Amino acid sequence: MNTSVTMDKIVSLCKRRGFVFPGSEIYGGLANTWDYGPYGVELINNIKKTWWKTFIQEREDMVGVDAAILMNPRVWEASGHVGSFTDPLMDCKKCHERVRGDKLLESKIGVEDVVKLSLKQISELVHTHKIPCPKCGACDFTEARSFNLMFRTYQGVVEDSAAMVYMRPETAQGIFVNFKNVQQTTRKKLPFGIGQIGKAFRNEITPGNFTFRTREFEQMEIEYFVKEAEWKPLYDGWRESMNNFFVQTLGFKKDKMRWRQHDDNELSHYSKETWDVEYEFPFGWGELWGIAYRTDYDLKQHTKFSGEKLEYLDPETNEKLVPHCIEPTFGVTRTALVALLDAYEEEEVSPATDVKPADVRIVMHFKPSIAPIKAAILPLMKKEPLAGKARELFAQLKKNFMVEYDESGSIGKRYRRHDELGTPFCITIDFDTVEKDDCVTIRDRDTMKQERIKLSEVKEYMQRAIET
Ligand code: ATP
Repeated sequence: MNTSVTMDKIVSLCKRRGFVFPGSEIYGGLANTWDYGPYGVELINNIKKTWWKTFIQEREDMVGVDAAILMNPRVWEASGHVGSFTDPLMDCKKCHERVRGDKLLESKIGVEDVVKLSLKQISELVHTHKIPCPKCGACDFTEARSFNLMFRTYQGVVEDSAAMVYMRPETAQGIFVNFKNVQQTTRKKLPFGIGQIGKAFRNEITPGNFTFRTREFEQMEIEYFVKEAEWKPLYDGWRESMNNFFVQTLGFKKDKMRWRQHDDNELSHYSKETWDVEYEFPFGWGELWGIAYRTDYDLKQHTKFSGEKLEYLDPETNEKLVPHCIEPTFGVTRTALVALLDAYEEEEVSPATDVKPADVRIVMHFKPSIAPIKAAILPLMKKEPLAGKARELFAQLKKNFMVEYDESGSIGKRYRRHDELGTPFCITIDFDTVEKDDCVTIRDRDTMKQERIKLSEVKEYMQRAIET
């Protein structure tokens, strides 16, 4: 039996248990859209809360913003997105499949440095190597053309070009345009950073792999402003913080992560050094987060395009300077996908016998701090006085934790359901609880060990477990 995690297993668990549903499902869906269900939204919110606490609230040198999704279109001219946020698009003439020419060259004939190639060169290589369409196998593509990934919409009642606005393709620019507002109102001194969590939109040509690449997604981004001479040690410090966030804070498996540096050809136009944090997904290594040294490119561009001087007055030297910028960036939805993949285990609880197949449970080993539900409160049976006592405990814990009351089905089935939801504790109320000792049984999700503790100590027990 293959017990390793696959994308199919995760997609199916997400649907079955209420983490992620296909978008607009009752209308036959809308390609590549996903809706987070009751447990998925808790997971996502816990990741965002943990990130905000770690990188904004616990640090003296960080503050947050929440900028608008729709921005003045000039922002995207200044940032370079209007001119160069493009992919080389090719269509199969037979089945009309849309593909990225650069990805075809990389994956089918191992061309390196695709970013250096012009649209003409990409088309020629695809044609001369007779690369087949991944869908129908025909070798007949249109010429490659430049496709801008930004979504457009219209603001106001008239749909003309003057009313056209873009849906932001990243949250970063909302931070740059507020640099002056934030610095002046908070009086922060360099080095300091601004963080933001929010939705971003990219009209990706080849979305896929479940929520790995979607057209609507969420990001958690930081722009950390520094003096030019100080960028390198601060950059390395941020890499260290990203490591700790992966391993310690979120509790992901260390051996599933690696750092990969962008070489000169891959670097974005604004960046002098970029590293990606990659995760080993079931389909191979893929980018999870990134960190770029963006120099003073963005603030200078926005100064040029807006006419507003985005400078910093150094209180020690009285000198005006344009800060340089380090950008640690995290995908929320990709982090949630990694949380699901990383937590997944199929564990043999008892081996197969001549008459029975092996008993295998699926268990999600989320770190308790990001688990959607922290504890399930289970009366052993659906009758009084057990149910009443369980409800009492539920009402009490609910004030502090996300807990669930569950009384239907056998206790074994309820345990298995909560294993799949990644609930760290199942707390059972039985006859002894009400008749004898005022104690409950707490079952640990990972070890399945059970211990009896006093009802009055449950809250503190959970607090300890969730904080570590
Ligand atoms: P990729 O190379 O995978 O397209 P990128 O380098 O364009 O990603 P960035 O612009 O650095 O990505 O965006 C920052 C983060 O946002 C990424 O590290 C990733 O976690 C997330 N992200 C980017 N594009 C998508 C997408 N289409 N769907 C989901 N998350 C995304």
